[in-house]
Amino acid sequence: MVNRTDINLAIRSNDFEKREKHPKVSSYFGASTFSESIMKKMLSEKTFSAFKLWQEEGVVITEKQADEIADAMKEWAISKGATSYSHWFQPMTGLTAEKHDSFIRITGKEQVLEKFSGSKLIQGEPDASSFPSGGIRATFEARGYTAWDPSSPAFISQVELGKTLSIPSIFFSYTGEALDKKLPLLRSDAAVSRAAVNLLAVLGHEVKAVFSDCGPEQEYFLIDESYYRLRTDLQLAGRTLIGAPSPKGQQLEDQYFGSIKERVLNYMNEVAEEAYTIGIPLTTRHNEVAPQQYEFAPIFERSNIAADHNQMLMDIMKKVARRHGLVCLLHEKPFAGINGSGKHLNWSLADNKGNNLLNPGDTPDANIKFLTILAAVIHAVYHHADLLRASVATAGNEHRLGANEAPPAIVSVFLGEQLTALLDQIEKGKIKKVKKLDAIDLGVGLLPRFVKDTSDRNRTSPFAFTGTKFEFRALGSSMNISTSIAVLNTIVADSMNVVAALIKAELKRQGNFESAVLAVLARIIKETKDILFEGNNYSQEWVREAARRGLANEPSTAEALKAFIRPENIDLFERHAVLSKVEMVARYHIWTEMYQKVLEIEARTLAEMVNTQVLPPAYTFQAEVAGSLDMLMDYAEDKTIKMPEGAVADRRELFNDLTSDIVDIRKNMRQMAEFFKKSEPMDLPEKCRAYFSELVPLLGHVRKHVDDLESKMPDGMWPLPKYKEMLFIC
Ligand code: ADP
Ligand code: MG
Repeated sequence: MVNRTDINLAIRSNDFEKREKHPKVSSYFGASTFSESIMKKMLSEKTFSAFKLWQEEGVVITEKQADEIADAMKEWAISKGATSYSHWFQPMTGLTAEKHDSFIRITGKEQVLEKFSGSKLIQGEPDASSFPSGGIRATFEARGYTAWDPSSPAFISQVELGKTLSIPSIFFSYTGEALDKKLPLLRSDAAVSRAAVNLLAVLGHEVKAVFSDCGPEQEYFLIDESYYRLRTDLQLAGRTLIGAPSPKGQQLEDQYFGSIKERVLNYMNEVAEEAYTIGIPLTTRHNEVAPQQYEFAPIFERSNIAADHNQMLMDIMKKVARRHGLVCLLHEKPFAGINGSGKHLNWSLADNKGNNLLNPGDTPDANIKFLTILAAVIHAVYHHADLLRASVATAGNEHRLGANEAPPAIVSVFLGEQLTALLDQIEKGKIKKVKKLDAIDLGVGLLPRFVKDTSDRNRTSPFAFTGTKFEFRALGSSMNISTSIAVLNTIVADSMNVVAALIKAELKRQGNFESAVLAVLARIIKETKDILFEGNNYSQEWVREAARRGLANEPSTAEALKAFIRPENIDLFERHAVLSKVEMVARYHIWTEMYQKVLEIEARTLAEMVNTQVLPPAYTFQAEVAGSLDMLMDYAEDKTIKMPEGAVADRRELFNDLTSDIVDIRKNMRQMAEFFKKSEPMDLPEKCRAYFSELVPLLGHVRKHVDDLESKMPDGMWPLPKYKEMLFIC
């Protein structure tokens, strides 16, 4: 077996010099996407307008038009070197899926021609039987369909030896149920648009449509590939299941925003280049808090595109890492004891003219709009915190929410001191008239200025207003952002309807528009202010305070997922035509089952590593220590040898320590085996409960003793790369 002490770092002799040097980003941005400008050039005017109408208003194009687009797409893709195409989609697992078909059709004896028809462009039919459907589709009628999502441009994905035309698609069953994460997102955008258009109309603003925008900040770790190859846990579970803390961790806080290592910067440059080629507007990159932890963030885009782009980015990040002899870890908690990786979801709403609804305006009119939308979002989070929590519930994220070294699983909203003060005044009825907001002197400053100033924001809040957007910070780094966006859009849509109805009713009671709106805002603030919290969300006081306020704090993934099958939540999603009951139940099943499976994989991986990698050298060392103890005991009998007092006792203590680690590890492993026997007949919910309350602690106990052993064993005998190496040598 290769031992970690034989390792040479995997730095590749990259052919960096051979490449074209630093072309201007604007010269190649989006070059591998079938963009609107290319379509405009290649399509007839009529078909192009039909496409735009389809994209913007959902008016489906004709078969002939589809054929024309398919033909143009094929020509373009082939001219770029693509040989096949794939419908690229986001199944309910955490990954993306693709099935490739070549463009060739047999046209005669030993003759082929590249062909691609409209029907193939618009609809594909992968054999879907192996994708989880949560019982929506029996395997014997495994038909699932993929359909091009015209709002997201097709793009060419490339490996060294070939190119494929990837067509962003939705995935659904024969009976029209969503089998993916993308379709609910698209439906939720429609729902929030309907509700926002209606609410804005009540406020006297006519807009055609509203869209959600989103900018996800992606955190990740990079480690050298040679370490990764020796860690079965990283390969199979994505995180280290054992590993003693490094003497130096993140205590010095010298990594955050520190200068980026050259090797990592090379990696980042190549990721950015690939991202730009397919139109992902990456803009920010920096070191994160933990050693070897980094972040990428794009400029925000429409949510549906942002969701696709984030999936593509994660893919690129993983692929490019290998070219640099690195491995990109997207797990939420790859290393215990140091920060995990999240994904901050920056979210806002904009009307069809591009006006951000969460932008405090410069006129009284704009501000009343801003405050009303703000109140609707607060109302939504207050009433549906359980759904937001459920949207981020995965086994990986369980290590970040409510576990050790992590923020609690309590959802609350941070607004900033001054906005809080303003809402307070409204609640108390002290503001009779919304004037141009920068003219209101609340004794706390001027709204437009302070709201836009986000320098003093609370980094611990799971849902923070940061100037012109909300930032939902509870997402895990590996997650598909579609589900959280779909939930956010849907609950906000519902609250907008509530607010609109309240304003209408109040307007009937009293004629004055402004005081009617202010009265409704006051009422909503009064009702929902328990969700507002400005303090340190990581403190124990907050956990107690939140309990006093009756806010949910659900650390268990499987329990949190139950929000998807609560009758009132099913009603809510059906009301807005985002998810049906069948679709919600399916999601609950798939995601609880995934939780169970992930934990089983972790337990089996741990058992294998302990039995085959940890214990064998431990026995060897134990025998060595036993031998030396024997020797010391013999020497102690020998009066000619002058041994320091306690020499035998000292060696015996080491032997006992080692032995008790070994015994404890084996004892916990036996308990784990017994646990699996006991839990075998349990049904899924019961199993998940038992996994959370019994199996997770057992994994922790095994780990504790293994880590203890690691810190005692001779360095040369320990086969697994250590934290101090993975996190500091690169
Ligand atoms: P941070 O300090 O949290 O990193 P940034 O200002 O860098 O904040 O923004 C983080 C992300 O928020 C970026 O992806 C940015 O494009 C996105 N963002 C900015 N404005 C909006 C908005 N109105 N709606 C959605 N996302 C936005
Ligand atoms: Mg942020």
